[in-house]
Amino acid sequence: MSRKHEVVIVGGGHNGLTVACYLARAGVDVCVLESLPYVGGGVISSRSVVPGFKADICSIWHGFIQANPLLLEDELGLKSKFGLRYLTSENQFGVLFPDDSHLNIYRDVERTCQSIAKFSQKDADAYRRFHGWGEQMLDMLTQGMFNPPPPFGAFVAALDQSPPGRALLRSLMMSALDLCDEWFESDAVKVALTKFSAQSGIAPGTLGSGIVLFLFIPLTHKYGGAIPMGGSGALSEAMERCLAHHGGTVLTERTVEQVLTSGGRASGVRLRGGEEIHATKAVVSNLHARQLAELVDPSLLPADFVGQLRQLKRSEYGAVSQGYALREAPRYKAGDEVSDALFVEFAPLPLETFLRGFDELRYGRVRMDMPTVGCQTRLDPSRAPEGKHTLHLFHYAPFELAGGGAARWDEVRQEVANGILATLQQRTTNMGADNIIGRLVETPLDLSRRNPAMISGDYNHIGMYLSQQLGNRYLPGWGYRTPVDGLWMCGPSCHPGGGVTGGGRAAVQPLMESLGVDFARAIRG
Ligand SMILES: Cc1cc2nc3c(=O)[nH]c(=O)nc-3n(C[C@H](O)[C@H](O)[C@H](O)COP(=O)(O)OP(=O)(O)OC[C@H]3O[C@@H](n4cnc5c(N)ncnc54)[C@H](O)[C@@H]3O)c2cc1C
Repeated sequence: MSRKHEVVIVGGGHNGLTVACYLARAGVDVCVLESLPYVGGGVISSRSVVPGFKADICSIWHGFIQANPLLLEDELGLKSKFGLRYLTSENQFGVLFPDDSHLNIYRDVERTCQSIAKFSQKDADAYRRFHGWGEQMLDMLTQGMFNPPPPFGAFVAALDQSPPGRALLRSLMMSALDLCDEWFESDAVKVALTKFSAQSGIAPGTLGSGIVLFLFIPLTHKYGGAIPMGGSGALSEAMERCLAHHGGTVLTERTVEQVLTSGGRASGVRLRGGEEIHATKAVVSNLHARQLAELVDPSLLPADFVGQLRQLKRSEYGAVSQGYALREAPRYKAGDEVSDALFVEFAPLPLETFLRGFDELRYGRVRMDMPTVGCQTRLDPSRAPEGKHTLHLFHYAPFELAGGGAARWDEVRQEVANGILATLQQRTTNMGADNIIGRLVETPLDLSRRNPAMISGDYNHIGMYLSQQLGNRYLPGWGYRTPVDGLWMCGPSCHPGGGVTGGGRAAVQPLMESLGVDFARAIRG
């Protein structure tokens, strides 16, 4: 007899797990189907680098999710009951310039301003004012992030009602670079701040990237970026425990090939190999929006809907990610203030060199001089055998390479990985071969093979452009629904988008409403 559950979730990324946990806690019988041998999607830790070491090969920085009531109010008990523990640091980011000068972003605003003042006193004062402005908006923005968004037009109309709203609206439509040009004078400060906005997969000069600065700066000071104790995947593992506690099911190594329908309504899924799993109430997809066209009987999707799915634009670049097992933590020539930072951002100067890097990515050329580095074991020794360390080395990279396309990644993987490592070696005193016990390398092509939802290695599924943000994400007017009754969406293709956000909290609300479950009561327990 085939399996039957009330709700079946396709893909065990952290958003699918979030949806599953809220549903299970509300008493819904839910089953998560994941194609890999482990759940978590972009929120995993790999044990395969070297036995005894846990490497974060995807996400490392858990920032946005700190403002999510999922953690802030511990709505699912992940912290109080299911073993999730976050570690943070006062010294959040060391931004390292080519001459070993550095700018540090601390949790403390005044300390950050002192660091900025080394480059420009005027910019230090401007940063304090910018932070003050962003701080006033932060609660509104984060509340919007973790709840279903209003239609885009309504959002714009609401902001258009007051002078502060209009000022915010104007800034949201700008690029991070334009915003920095208005506020700051020094190249170092502009590079440091726009490098953070670029983590969202769109270049500093791209319109719409300004919103990231509004979130990133006040959020870093109010909540602080953090890492889960035990590895990035500890978040997903806590969700698995929560789900099991509430009677939910996780089935790994189950690849969904088709969404089944009955009378035009989603009624279950067919797995690779032919097994069918039935869903009496809903099917929820954590996959890329465009995969809807593969999973669903084409006659059930209107042609214009399929056309709009095809138009979805991917992020401007992906990443080469490396996880290392080390004998010693890296020691930076720039000194302890950089070595001790939770993350080190390599920042080319002048501004033009930095910005040209993003043009090169756009044309399929690899850059190796601006990695982001995190040595997690400085804060969390549990990730490695005693005295040893783990390191995450991340660098933006194009999916399609000039002169050979994506397939060329298989030829150049080691060369590029070594080149990025060489950048780190030049700026440290102890990152030679004798310090390296093992490493894992994942290119954008590798990522797209391992996780087919990250089409073209896009860790946001679709780009975080303003045209694909808020109520426009995944498509204007659809929210988390699809043209097939009972088939829902919940992954980073939807609001609030890519990143470790726990954004499934927003997706689950309209779904619960359709099931007659009161979300507010469900989170009260
Ligand atoms: C290298 C890298 C570094 C990153 N660093 C950060 C960071 O530091 N901070 C941050 O905030 N964000 C970071 N991100 C982004 C973040 O990890 C992702 O945006 C986010 O995790 C995506 O949401 P998800 O986990 O729900 O979706 P996904 O990870 O896309 O999950 C989809 C799941 O579905 C499964 N699946 C696919 N097809 C099928 C199928 N047919 N049947 C069943 N299952 C299927 C996949 O295996 C996967 O588990 C990073 C991402 C990468 C790749």
